[in-house]
Amino acid sequence: MVLDWLFAPQCAACTEPASTLCSACVGSLVEVGTACGRCAEPTTGGLCRRCATMPLPLDQILAPWQFGGQLAAAIKRLKFANGAHVARDVAPLWAPLLAAVVEEHAAIVVPIPLHWRRRLVRGYDQAWLLAVHACAAGGLPSPRSLLRRIRGAPAQSKLSAAARRENLRGAFTVRDPCDVAGRTIVLVDDVVTTGATLAAAALPLRAAGAIAVYGVALARAGGFV
Ligand SMILES: [Zn+2]
Ligand SMILES: [Zn+2]
Repeated sequence: MVLDWLFAPQCAACTEPASTLCSACVGSLVEVGTACGRCAEPTTGGLCRRCATMPLPLDQILAPWQFGGQLAAAIKRLKFANGAHVARDVAPLWAPLLAAVVEEHAAIVVPIPLHWRRRLVRGYDQAWLLAVHACAAGGLPSPRSLLRRIRGAPAQSKLSAAARRENLRGAFTVRDPCDVAGRTIVLVDDVVTTGATLAAAALPLRAAGAIAVYGVALARAGGFV
């Protein structure tokens, strides 16, 4: 029946029948492996060159998987269609990492917000969905909307690292500093590349009195050979 086909659960990456990400797609995921202890940039060990000289304003960025292959396909679907379904399906893959960081620091989970105009166009905010489902899968309290994006940044993907930083300066503000002062924050985003977005979100949190800011992403892009 057409309806059976329409509502049959599909893998979030390849559309094979599966109730979550199918086993072939899970098997194709590549772990980040040896990486910089601050920003998860792949290294041969120790800090990357940037973090050794000019560390980001985050205590640590963590991501379990390399961006690419079937995970990239799932993240593309997350952004352009079917967000809630994909966010729920990938949650078990990274909820343990998120839960470990949050529980170690008694932290608050704060997704990186989209600018309202982009959320209006897309109909949802993908980092928020990722965080909601990962928190549920990890047995954590729900994420909090403590940041506001006050500038709609143009697409970042074609910009250099320096241009990304400039592009994001002052992009985020803290809604109420009372929620942040004295707390540890775990920022959640779908993909981390240079860390510029997480850094731009961490600065106002630190200015509002956060004692530590971590970043957890589903995937780490860039720097892989
Ligand atoms: Zn699949
Ligand atoms: Zn680094």
